[in-house]
Amino acid sequence: MDKKPYHVVIVGYGGMGSYHPQLIAPVESLRVTGVFDVIPYRMELAESAGLKPYESLDAVLTDSEVDVVLIATPNDVHKDIAIQALKAGKHVICEKPVTITSADLLDIVEVAKAEDRIFTVHQNRRWDEDFRIVKHLIETKQAGEVFHVESRVQGANGIPGDWRQLKAYGGGMLLDWGVHLLDQLLLLTDSKIDSVTAELSTILGTEVDDGFTTHIRFYDELTAVVEVGTTNYVTLPRWYVKGNEGTAVIRDWDLNGELVRSNPDVARVEPKPIQAGQGLTKTMAPPSEESTLRLPIEKAPAAAQTFYENFAAALEGKSTLIVKNEEVYRVLRLIETIFEAAEKREVLKDLNL
Ligand code: NAD
Repeated sequence: MDKKPYHVVIVGYGGMGSYHPQLIAPVESLRVTGVFDVIPYRMELAESAGLKPYESLDAVLTDSEVDVVLIATPNDVHKDIAIQALKAGKHVICEKPVTITSADLLDIVEVAKAEDRIFTVHQNRRWDEDFRIVKHLIETKQAGEVFHVESRVQGANGIPGDWRQLKAYGGGMLLDWGVHLLDQLLLLTDSKIDSVTAELSTILGTEVDDGFTTHIRFYDELTAVVEVGTTNYVTLPRWYVKGNEGTAVIRDWDLNGELVRSNPDVARVEPKPIQAGQGLTKTMAPPSEESTLRLPIEKAPAAAQTFYENFAAALEGKSTLIVKNEEVYRVLRLIETIFEAAEKREVLKDLNL
């Protein structure tokens, strides 16, 4: 394509749909030009933001000025809108979770291939700084060889009171925050998954999970705990990472945290026993000050492209997509495996996933 800027129309102008324009604005070759939403008030908001309101999805798809359809509706209609848009010759960006089942994603990808259009998914938390710090820490072996990762997001506000509480809309926290945290985890190792156990939380009594905990083991021996909660008045750290030479913690979105590691320049000093409860312990005493280093969290190098810079470059044939459909599919397969493990209360193993 050599036409510029490419015109993007947003379908579904709610919380996330109305946020995308500010993500797209810095990219010169993309311009948000219009919106379609089923709620008239949302269309009025779009109009007052200077965007063209389309009266129907069909009106978007038959407008030859539209190059890209960005889908930010509830999850249940992503597939149908994506397939219609691809068949109308539009490139498509879809919000996560791309679809409710992995089979549905394959159907979309087949159409995208047949129509020779770009289809990608906004798995944007790959660009989160906390995640990029952890990835960098592992790659640069700041804690030695990392063998265990814990990744959590926790709130105390329950599931937002809309379609996210309903199964038919693809609600629930595993399909919501789970997509982000599992997508991030799968980028931390090249290894496939060997086994999965999981529990869903249904404390709030909704028909969907209000959180989950999963334990994942990779063939390279990396183990991981991924946890999402909406009933946590006190939160555990966002990341807890153990390597054979140190432990790192990132406590919150403000990136408070530290790396504590053995000091390579000082021979290990035996810790002194400490009083612990009604007993003495040397095993659980803190490591000796002399032989450990307490370091601030090291920033990760800046990402080469934002999500939208990458998308625009892919449209122009200058870059391959960063968020690949095979990776998106693997996340959905893992989510299905977590649902199955939770339902069966079993360790699912030899998964080769
Ligand atoms: P929302 O309820 O705030 O907005 C959805 C909008 O879609 C509403 O305005 C609704 O009227 C409209 N809509 C519903 N059906 C439609 C249809 N058939 N055609 C056109 N418009 C329709 O929801 P939200 O929080 O903005 O979530 C939307 C999507 O974005 C979901 O898939 C969600 O998972 C995703 N999301 C992603 C992130 C992220 O960080 N990537 C964050 C929040 C939400």
